[in-house]
Amino acid sequence: MDDKKVSILGIPFDNLTRVEFLARLLARMEANQKTFLVTANPEIVMYAKEDDEYYNLLLKADYVAPDGIGIVRAAKKLGTPIKERVPGFELMLGLLELSNMHKKRVYFIGAKEEIVEKAVNNAEKLWPNLVVAGYHHGYFDHSDSAMIDHVKSVEPDLILVAFGFPRQEKWIHEYLKAAGHGIAVGVGGSFDVLSGKAKRAPKIVQKLHVEWLYRLVKQPSRYRRMLALPAFMQEVNKQKALEKTKKKRDS
Ligand code: UDP
Repeated sequence: MDDKKVSILGIPFDNLTRVEFLARLLARMEANQKTFLVTANPEIVMYAKEDDEYYNLLLKADYVAPDGIGIVRAAKKLGTPIKERVPGFELMLGLLELSNMHKKRVYFIGAKEEIVEKAVNNAEKLWPNLVVAGYHHGYFDHSDSAMIDHVKSVEPDLILVAFGFPRQEKWIHEYLKAAGHGIAVGVGGSFDVLSGKAKRAPKIVQKLHVEWLYRLVKQPSRYRRMLALPAFMQEVNKQKALEKTKKKRDS
């Protein structure tokens, strides 16, 4: 049952809790299995519909986590409920916690120079046993393989890539082709939060599942991106109607 994937608009999500995700990722880290982890929100799912290359990339991920309540609602609507939402930011914190406990090597790549530096400083304070294999800002030519060679050469067990989608997943795919091991995950704007530059919504807002509204108020420039959510739900309704028609026809 655990291993069942739940397809939402063609993206195969793993139906695992946060704890189950972390347990599996730790096992893979211990076994030196390279792993492509994607945390996908409705915006990413909608984007993948428009970009075939990106869509095919997502199909190659070892794990796809349901990042956000929109995905959970969609799964329920489609009659294939998933256990819980697994926010990318929390998965990142969990992976850092595990890396700290097991003395794993972490590479931070992405965001502006001063942001990634602060994020790494904060991470070192929060997790004193963390082994920082290195860090680099995210404003370089992403098609230049020199960076892949560099990161690979310091042999990280965990690579956090904060370029925003689809850039981060495209880079990770190339990186993992070259690297021998490591868990690589795109973490979007998480370094901005870890550095203290951007704030996550207060606990109560997160509980009420209206984090998107809080973000919108704090950062009106996100408005255009937020429009992906209603369009996403509309697509989910379409998928549901299609499945209903198919069922009727087949019965
Ligand atoms: N970013 C980066 N390199 C780039 C573009 C963006 O490192 O070429 C970083 C940016 O500084 C931010 C993160 O990627 O920390 C997320 O950026 P954005 O908000 O544009 O991405 P989204 O949240 O839309 O995926």
